[in-house]
Amino acid sequence: MLADVVAQMETLYDPAWAESWDAVGLVCGDPAQDVRRILFAVDPVSVVVDEALEYGADLIVTHHPLYLRGTTSVAATTFKGRVIHRLIRNDVALYTAHTNADVADPGVSDALARAVGLSGELRPLLPAVDDPRRGLGRIGTLPSPMTLRAFAERAASGLPGTAGPLRVAGDPDRPVVTVAVSGGAGDSLLGTARASGADVFLTADLRHHPASEFMEAEGGPALIDASHWATEWPWLADAAERLTSALAAKGINVEARVSRIVTDAWTSTTPYSPPRAP
Ligand SMILES: [Zn+2]
Repeated sequence: MLADVVAQMETLYDPAWAESWDAVGLVCGDPAQDVRRILFAVDPVSVVVDEALEYGADLIVTHHPLYLRGTTSVAATTFKGRVIHRLIRNDVALYTAHTNADVADPGVSDALARAVGLSGELRPLLPAVDDPRRGLGRIGTLPSPMTLRAFAERAASGLPGTAGPLRVAGDPDRPVVTVAVSGGAGDSLLGTARASGADVFLTADLRHHPASEFMEAEGGPALIDASHWATEWPWLADAAERLTSALAAKGINVEARVSRIVTDAWTSTTPYSPPRAP
């Protein structure tokens, strides 16, 4: 039953850990409905609904909320309303684990840290006040020191490909061994990353001014900006594995698939020309 799956998800990713502005939990679905197949995806968008219907999923678990800021209508006059209509018509439930999955132990940034090559112990970059084993971001060390250039190549090879490449700020030859990461938009952790003593901070959605000012100040980590979707995607397989094995231990057998459809907002790139004299 969907209620059993929701209860297990809430054991792994307690909704109480979510930020106050967040919207996590069951978005649509009847707790009494059967769940045999679950699709895990980053974004609750139409191509993910297409995949869920083709797979025969009874439930989609996404990282991002469909309605983060609430709504007064689910009419099929917007893409969000159409998503809800298609899900309900086809008996597919939708469940979100967002900032509660970010701060879980293990959570979104643990999977990201493993994907970019951190093999040793990980600790939160910004520990949660009530439980320092949980928290935002992760920091750990590489098996051996390497140049920033080599680490960026290692990170790019471990993350799922999107249209945009990794962007790097810092001397490509500087050695790196301590690495801080944060899945999704990590602007707010720039100061924490600097104070952590990391050699490089990898996150997504970094903007010009914060990144420029960060690099102008002496002695901080290098920066790597990856695609938002790519930094969160590694968590899906981890969540799927943890959920299905915890349910199996209770005699509930469900099948899970991780969506490989790239739903990052950016879909292609074009190189610039060098600046020209006027
Ligand atoms: Zn995100």
